[in-house]
This record gives sequence, structure tokens and C-alpha cells, in this order.
Amino acid sequence: MLWRRSLIYFRCYRKFNFYSTINTNGIKSTRHKNISDTFVKKLCSAIGQENVSISLPVREQCGTDEGYHGTSACDVVVFPQSRDQICEVAKFCSFSSVPIIPRGTGTGLEHGVGGIMGGVCIDMRYMTAILEVNEEDFDCTVEAGTTRKTLGSYIRSTGLMFPVDPGADASLGGMASTSASGTNAVRYGTMKENVLNLEVVLADGSVLHTAGPKRRTRKSAAGYNLTELFVGSEGTLGIISKVTLRLHAVPQMMVSAICSFPTIQNAVQSVVHILQSNIPLARIELLDENLFLEFHGSEESVKTQAKDVEEIVKMDEGSNFIWSANAEERNKLWKARHDIYYATLAHKPGCKSVTTDVCVPISKLTDIIMKTKEDISNSGLVGTIIGHVGDGNFHTQLLYDPQNEQELNIAHEIENKISKRALLLNGTCTGEHGIGVGKISFLEEELGEIGIKTMRAIKQALDPQNLMNPGKVLK
Ligand SMILES: Cc1cc2nc3c(=O)[nH]c(=O)nc-3n(C[C@H](O)[C@H](O)[C@H](O)COP(=O)(O)OP(=O)(O)OC[C@H]3O[C@@H](n4cnc5c(N)ncnc54)[C@H](O)[C@@H]3O)c2cc1C
Repeated sequence: MLWRRSLIYFRCYRKFNFYSTINTNGIKSTRHKNISDTFVKKLCSAIGQENVSISLPVREQCGTDEGYHGTSACDVVVFPQSRDQICEVAKFCSFSSVPIIPRGTGTGLEHGVGGIMGGVCIDMRYMTAILEVNEEDFDCTVEAGTTRKTLGSYIRSTGLMFPVDPGADASLGGMASTSASGTNAVRYGTMKENVLNLEVVLADGSVLHTAGPKRRTRKSAAGYNLTELFVGSEGTLGIISKVTLRLHAVPQMMVSAICSFPTIQNAVQSVVHILQSNIPLARIELLDENLFLEFHGSEESVKTQAKDVEEIVKMDEGSNFIWSANAEERNKLWKARHDIYYATLAHKPGCKSVTTDVCVPISKLTDIIMKTKEDISNSGLVGTIIGHVGDGNFHTQLLYDPQNEQELNIAHEIENKISKRALLLNGTCTGEHGIGVGKISFLEEELGEIGIKTMRAIKQALDPQNLMNPGKVLK
């Protein structure tokens, strides 16, 4: 019907000075009242017209990520070529009280890149220089738009690797901003453990080095940990322009294995038993009743680890334990694991998925996964359980038809149940995807009143006008 297609304009919260336009395709186009032709012209003259776009398809593309929250286009997209250009944009936005939304590669799942109150999107796609690799110190510094695969290829010949692997070829600035992790975190840690320093452009255009200019030590006891404050801040405290990362030696040998279990309960119990045996796994991933594993080390240690795990798997009624050290087979296996998100979506063409991301103490994993499995089978929705179970972190992908409101409501109900259950089990509502727009209410429950008050105080101190990615993380 025509009226359905027409845009519904309405004015939202005066205090944020924005107007919102929503059409029924779920595309939200928000115009900030402080953005005028003059503002755009001045922006063009400050950083070059070729680095500024107001084209609708560009704005929509930049206001969309891989999650199910749809599109929220902001007013202008800028493509800075240098840190100084980011500073110019921030100063400009700060002077005119215009929101700023940083963007990496848009692989996030929680709508962190959505311009929900309008403003200027800072797209980092052209800031991809690898500035230094210090092989002897096992560290490197890159511009924040560099993707993890680009860095991986660049350092391949050095015998070093950057292990944090969220599957998607995300930007390292985006990964720092979401505190990303992935399949290797059980052995090498998350972005929290692997970021040594960040260069950040603050909302007023000033430049902060979170560990101090040029610092790149493994340890520091020098005052507050500003680096960890910015890791996971989801663009709400500043724009990350450079990232200094810890690198690791490529292990002498890597062996991957798969095995299957009669029930998901057996599989999860086996994970707990393997972890309790203190075997230094590099990866241990669950996909319904199957486990994907990887061992890193010397030839001898890797073989011993694989044998020990096989014994435990057998005790838990697991079977078909197949392992391989062949690089091609290993890559195929992990590609299959990483493609599960899209393979699940392809299971019901046209469907979208609500994806959960809870993390609980390892001893609570069996309990929460069993209850989740029951919820999915009672719901009538198609859903998978996948995850980085070595860290107590798992995802459910709940498929729903976007035209069917009831299905979406059911998916949300399950999502809420899972998050609440995780909180009751001393866990978190998000192990790695972040809060974005969807999990704000859970953050309040998770941190409590004083936790939220402290976060607000930090936000107020660094971004008093609430310009950095407003509407994300904190209400
Ligand atoms: C198939 C698939 C699998 C995934 N698996 C995992 C997984 O295993 N583990 C995991 O952790 N994640 C996973 N993700 C989610 C996603 O890849 C991560 O959240 C990733 O870190 C996002 O990086 P990005 O560059 O795409 O950031 P974007 O999506 O562009 O942005 C994400 C957030 O970071 C902010 N941001 C981006 N760049 C900057 C910057 N330079 N400065 C300040 N803020 C910035 C944005 O404002 C936004 O809030 C997966 C996603 C997909 C599609």
C-alpha cells in the first residue's frame, strides 16, 4: 500500500536535536538539525571534497552492519586519509554540536555504526597503513582501518602472527572498539590482552595516546589503564586512529581436529573436562553436537595434546575424532567454521537472525546451553548453537522472517531469556559483540547502578556534549 511506502516523519527527543525518518523497509534516515549545506561545504573545504559524501546509497551503506537492526543512515560520510583530517572533522563537529559515528568495516552485529541521531560518519577504509613492525619486540603499529587479514599477510614472512580472529575481516580499530575476540582467544586472549597502545582523537579534536606517545611495552603500572578503557568503548569515547598490537610467534606445528557427540550435553561436558585438564588448546569451538579443536606447539607437544584430548572425548562418548596437520585441510575446516553464520542464514532464504553472545563461567556452560537448546526447540524457530566454548562464550542464531512480527518477538523473547539466565549465572550479556543499541538494558542489569553511574561520569568527562556515537552503550 502506498501509505506503507511513504516516509513517516516525526520529531524525536528535542534534547538530542535530531529528526528521524523511518520507512517500512527498516531504513532509518536521520537528519541532525545542525547539519546544513554550509556545514557540508566547510567540511569539504577542510578535508577535501573528494573525502566527503552525502550520497544516499553511501550514507545507507555506512549506516548498516551485519546484524539484524537494519540501516540508520547519517547525514554525511567522511573518508579521512590521516589522523589530522580526523582531528579537523572532530573539531568541526564539536563546534557545531554534531554527532560523530566512527566506522571500520561494518562487520559488527549490534548496530554500532548506525547513525541513529544523524551526524557525520567517519569511515576509516582509507587509513590502512602498516606503520611499523618490530619483529624483535613482537609488536606492530597500524592505522585503525587496516584489516586483520591485511596485517596477517603483511607479517607472514616474519614468522609472527596476530591471533585475534573474529572470522570476519574486520578493521583493527573496529576490533579494538568492540573488544573483539574469536576462535583463538582461549589461547592468545582477546583484544584486551593484545592492544598495547591506542592513538585516539577525542570528541574535541585533541589527540590521546592511551599508554603515552610511542609506548609499546608488554606491561605498565603507570596510572589508570586508559588503553583498556578505550578497548570495547564502541566509538563512544573517541575515534581510534592508530593501534599498537602485540604479535605472537607462529607455532612450530598446528593440528586441527573434529569430533562429534551423541548429544550437545556430552559435547559441552567434554569441553569442561578438557579445560579442567589444563591442556593448552588454541581453539575449541562448539557447533551443536560437534567440536572443532586446534592445538599449537612443538610437534611432540601437539601430538600429546591431541592424544590426551581424544581420551577425554572418548570418555564423554565422543567419536569420529579426526585430526590433521595439513595446512590446506586446516584452513578448509576453519573456513567452514567461520562461514557458519552465513550458512545458517542460507538455511531459510530471506530470513534474518537474532544473534546472542552471552559468556558464563565454564562450570555453568552445560546448564545454560542445555536450557537454551530447550528454548529453541520449544520456540518453533530454526536456531543453531555455536561458540567459543573454551571461554564460556557461545552464540545462538535464531532465524526469523522479517515480514513476520511474531517470529521476531519470539526470537527477542529467547534472546532476553538467554541474557537474563547468563546474568543469573554470574555471566555477561556479551562476550565479544558489544552492547551497541540492542543490549543497553542488559548492561544496566549487569553493572548495577553504580557501575552505570561511573561509566556515565567517564563519558561526561571525555565527551561532555554526547557527540561520540550517541545512543550506543549508554542511554
Ligand atoms: C560472520 C561474522 C562472524 C563474527 N564473529 C565474531 C567473533 O567470533 N568474535 C567477535 O568478537 N566478533 C565477531 N563478529 C563481529 C565483528 O566482526 C566484530 O565486532 C568486529 O570487531 C567489528 O569490526 P569492524 O571493523 O567491522 O567494526 P564496525 O562494525 O565498523 O564497528 C563496530 C563498532 O566499533 C566502532 N568503531 C569502528 N572503528 C572505530 C574506530 N576506528 N574508532 C572508534 N570506534 C570505531 C563503531 O562505531 C561501532 O560501534 C562477527 C561478525 C560476523 C559478520
